[in-house]
Amino acid sequence: MEVALKVDVDTHQGLAEGLPRLRRVLERERVTASFYVAMGPDNSGRAILRVFRNRGFLKKMFRTNAVSMYGLRTILSGTILPARPIALAFPNLLRELKAAGFEVAVHGYDHVLWQDHIDSLGERGIRAELNDAFEAYRSIMAESPRAFAAPGWRTNAVALRALDEMGLNYRSDTRGRAPFRCMVDGRVLTTPEIPSTLPTLDEVMGRADLRDNAALLRFYLDQFKADQLNVHTIHAETEGMGQLENFAALVGALKERGARFVRMDAVASGLNPAELPVCPVVRTEVPGRAGWVAAQGS
Ligand SMILES: [Zn+2]
Repeated sequence: MEVALKVDVDTHQGLAEGLPRLRRVLERERVTASFYVAMGPDNSGRAILRVFRNRGFLKKMFRTNAVSMYGLRTILSGTILPARPIALAFPNLLRELKAAGFEVAVHGYDHVLWQDHIDSLGERGIRAELNDAFEAYRSIMAESPRAFAAPGWRTNAVALRALDEMGLNYRSDTRGRAPFRCMVDGRVLTTPEIPSTLPTLDEVMGRADLRDNAALLRFYLDQFKADQLNVHTIHAETEGMGQLENFAALVGALKERGARFVRMDAVASGLNPAELPVCPVVRTEVPGRAGWVAAQGS
């Protein structure tokens, strides 16, 4: 069983606190992972305000105890308190992460802006977000980024084409079944897409049938498939904070089952683009998540 852990880092606090904790667990377990870091300002307070406006989300906020999960400073970031930088606030953490053998790549610039407004940003806005993100990455890592993971699994034709021009080794923007090439407006893009194949913990932890940690662990072990690549997205803000023990238990259980942990860039370098299926990128909804996500079409 092949497992790629895709760690999304969305916030200042997630990078400051969640990322080092995850790194310690991964190193203790001798397991590798790929990290995708939001390069710009932390406007997560705006996202949390936005979800408060969504019907039914208030219930989820209480159920998942969002204040203790995100912390008050994060909830207010970009609202009544100024937005703090994310990657640029901790360049050494990211350089050390890479030096320790983990993959570090780009998870957009302004995560909240991208996730909430991708379709109204227009070509200029999208290119500005990508340029700012890649510039920030270069200033921190002293090399060009080789991969991109879309904030909130949201993308569109403009973003897919703009990223394709950048000559990355791969993208991970969607939910899906297995690596593929994207068909956009009748054209097949060059950059392979490696989709996330499992639901995220925050999507399932409020479920009535998964109330305790043992049930959650059983649920995830059932999701991993023995005969294919499993791409599991985790969050510095979730698995790296309140859910660290659940994450460590999952890693331990996967190791017992003989899982082989791989970096996403290693997966990408083993792909032969000519052999990958060609699929459109569609929009879908997943249980436990508000709004749409981009997904691998049939
Ligand atoms: Zn994210």
